[in-house]
Amino acid sequence: MPTNELLNFVGGAWRRSEASDRAAVRNPATAETLAWVPLTPADEVAAAVEAAANAFPAWRDTPVGDRVQPLFRLKQLLERDIEELARTITLECGKTYAESEGELRRGIENVETAAGMPILMQGTNNEDVARGIDEHLFRQPLGVVAAITPFNFPGMIPLWFLPYAVASGNCFVLKPSERVPMTTQHLVRLCEEAGFPAGVVSLVNGGKAAVDALLDHPLVRAVSFVGSTPIAKYVYARATANGKRAQCQGGAKNPAIVLPDADLDMATRILADSAFGCAGQRCLATSVAITVGEAKDAFTDRIVEDARTRRVGFGLDEGVQMGPVINPESKERIEGLIATGEREGGRLLVDGREGSVDGFTDGWFLHPTVVADADPHGTLARTEVFGPVLTMLHAATLEDAIALANDRAFGNQACLFTSSGAAARAFRHQVRAGNVGINLGVAAPMAYFPFSGWGESFFGDLHAQGRHGVEFYTETKVVIERWPDDWSRRF
Ligand code: NAD
Repeated sequence: MPTNELLNFVGGAWRRSEASDRAAVRNPATAETLAWVPLTPADEVAAAVEAAANAFPAWRDTPVGDRVQPLFRLKQLLERDIEELARTITLECGKTYAESEGELRRGIENVETAAGMPILMQGTNNEDVARGIDEHLFRQPLGVVAAITPFNFPGMIPLWFLPYAVASGNCFVLKPSERVPMTTQHLVRLCEEAGFPAGVVSLVNGGKAAVDALLDHPLVRAVSFVGSTPIAKYVYARATANGKRAQCQGGAKNPAIVLPDADLDMATRILADSAFGCAGQRCLATSVAITVGEAKDAFTDRIVEDARTRRVGFGLDEGVQMGPVINPESKERIEGLIATGEREGGRLLVDGREGSVDGFTDGWFLHPTVVADADPHGTLARTEVFGPVLTMLHAATLEDAIALANDRAFGNQACLFTSSGAAARAFRHQVRAGNVGINLGVAAPMAYFPFSGWGESFFGDLHAQGRHGVEFYTETKVVIERWPDDWSRRF
């Protein structure tokens, strides 16, 4: 058993898994093995769920004002350790230090928002729904809830769920991506230090077997998932077939429209960051840019210049703007999709497969890629790439551009660049996406708004974050009561 094997956190204690299989956690910039992660078997996952279930009755009965106190401490601890956490994210995930710190900031905002749980989970009531009869709605926690998270935001995405789940009175079991489990290990240590009682926050590392164990365990009442669309569909189907609530966020293929009246320098800067930032491994990355009318030439020249000059390298090095992709399989898949785009008639204005990074020959680097004249109905224009590849399409009018933007199964995000309020209004009304940006390239909602994917980007009803999170993790109880008057006259 390697000495740098990561641990599970079960019933308030750090435990070494008896797993027979483990996976290497590797630095995508160097291919160096950083740690080993156990692929926890079903019986150990069940033990974590059962320990969480044992903790539930006391946690549920803890007043909500007391339940949020560890969140105030967690916020301070996250601020204290933000540099170390950001370095860990860069080491295991590949993004730049600034991107790592940025995602932690968005995560912390969820801790802050959930600390308002005494107000967020308030119910409603009416006096005299009939003469002398009152009716109340209370929100009560579900019990044990689980979250399964992806590799691309190891600091932020667990915090889309954990603070809302526990502050509303649930016990929370987290199964992070096996590719980036080191950040989560640190995060859960901070939860321990923040003082959540044993069993309120648990961590099980692993892959498919651990996920299936959570989906099948009868004591898990709700499952939150973020990852690729095929797995999101699978998790949604299996969790709901087992009678659980599920909110499953999937992949994306995000379009952005550039109108001729846009500030093109601003549009280029923002869209280059959206397409190439985090090496394109954001579910809100712009993957298709649709120019309208004479925006085509001016925008193309600018984005090509940005793609050619973007500094690619190790995310902890000064001045680096883009890191590697997560693993060699991902690199190969992205290169394959670029080749497919070419076969479909696309012209490679910038070919990111050609670049290298001095001193990092073992890393899984790709440089930004821009493909023009791609087939709008082809594979490249419609498949999630999850890499630094921008496909350029063109339309004669805004209406045609919106039709092109809507011609895809995903609905995570759509953006528009314009100086026209009327165009912006038409776009936001007609576009089929749940997160919409106007003169913004990453339409990330703040913690107090729902992360609102549509179509193949989301399976479920209530989204992550804010009030949706509170509703997802609580069930409503409606109480109707009568206290006849003559009873009060007894005293
Ligand atoms: P992934 O689907 O491969 O893995 C996500 C989680 O599912 C991991 O914890 C993994 O261990 C587990 N998993 C993988 N295969 C499984 C299987 N066969 N059965 C059960 N569980 C399984 O996703 P990823 O590569 O880690 O993340 C990238 C994907 O996540 C992209 O598609 C991206 O668009 C999406 N994403 C979506 C959002 C959103 O909010 N919609 C946010 C971030 C990432």
